[in-house]
Amino acid sequence: MTAVQTTLKSSPEVVAVRHDWRRDEIEALFALPFNDLLFRAATVHRQHFDPNAVQVSTLLSIKTGACPEDCKYCSQSGHYNTELEKEKLLEVKKVLEEARAAKEKGASRFCMGAAWRSPRDKDMPYVLDMVRQVKAMGMETCMTLGMLSPEQAGQLAEAGLDYYNHNLDTSPEYYGQIISTRSYNDRLGTLAHVRDAGMKICAGGIIGMGEDRRDRVGLLQQLANLPAHPESVPINMLVKIKGTPLADVADLDHFEFVRTIAVARILMPESFVRLSAGRQEMNDEMQALCFFAGANSIFYGERLLTTDNPETGHDQKLFNRLGIHPLDPRDECSDEATEDALLGQVQSQQPAPLYYDAMSSREAKAVLGKRSAQDA
Ligand code: SF4
Repeated sequence: MTAVQTTLKSSPEVVAVRHDWRRDEIEALFALPFNDLLFRAATVHRQHFDPNAVQVSTLLSIKTGACPEDCKYCSQSGHYNTELEKEKLLEVKKVLEEARAAKEKGASRFCMGAAWRSPRDKDMPYVLDMVRQVKAMGMETCMTLGMLSPEQAGQLAEAGLDYYNHNLDTSPEYYGQIISTRSYNDRLGTLAHVRDAGMKICAGGIIGMGEDRRDRVGLLQQLANLPAHPESVPINMLVKIKGTPLADVADLDHFEFVRTIAVARILMPESFVRLSAGRQEMNDEMQALCFFAGANSIFYGERLLTTDNPETGHDQKLFNRLGIHPLDPRDECSDEATEDALLGQVQSQQPAPLYYDAMSSREAKAVLGKRSAQDA
């Protein structure tokens, strides 16, 4: 019996967060029977999160197209003719209008993306102003601007940027097939600068670019073995763009995509795993499977940078059908959340429950409430 099978048969203890995953262990997870893998991922999910809460972000392209990089999947690369309408850096006023509209539709985080190799010094004051003003609206902020120097990371952190997105895209071995204008180490360097500056990291990859399972294993291993797991892990399904070299790549089996979500959940139990690009091509049932497998974040809004995304109304209906509610970021730092964390510590002295139990949490709070009233 393998180590993975042994764990499945034994009681589901809370698995420690690890940063030393070996390839063979990750391959063994991928190779589990589908139902066993999903059961295990859902169990891990419930140990760390409310399984019916999904974090919702909105993504706006603040500078579109004419990117000097040659990422083979991207509609914005200047190397390919994708008939994309290019746009200069948006005015701060326009960005704020979009952020306000996203907030009204229920987004808690506003992500801003610019098609740059890296931001130029003359763009930084505008970008920093966007961060400050979106933050002042009470939203979490995220940016993706390409490679950052340590100084730029420091400036963004000082302006209050919560998250910086920089994807690893694929495994180190397959990376050269996808991008030649920047190296894997460049990407890891930017992630290190972001972390050193004190910001949270959003980093994931793209599945279905013609890579094989070993590359999906390699990508997840890289992410899971970072010194600290990215707080947010977007798993994108390739959206095939006419004019790019990956326009006609073979379709990936959807179950393999769900497996990738499930393995990401197991390897990075405390991270938000985001069902990201490609949702337009997934039916509701597949998205529901992804939520069951541990995805707990999505992008809301009809455009995802330059590609289509499900309509907001459709997402709201899907949430209603599944009994899912959007996560309020204030929940993560509220007194109630602190209380929950304390309760978690008390409860962790007992055997870990298999399922997230909202009722017992409420009962425990009532007991705590009475106790503190008596103490007063
Ligand atoms: S993915 Fe980003 S860096 Fe690569 S071509 Fe597109 S916009 Fe440029």
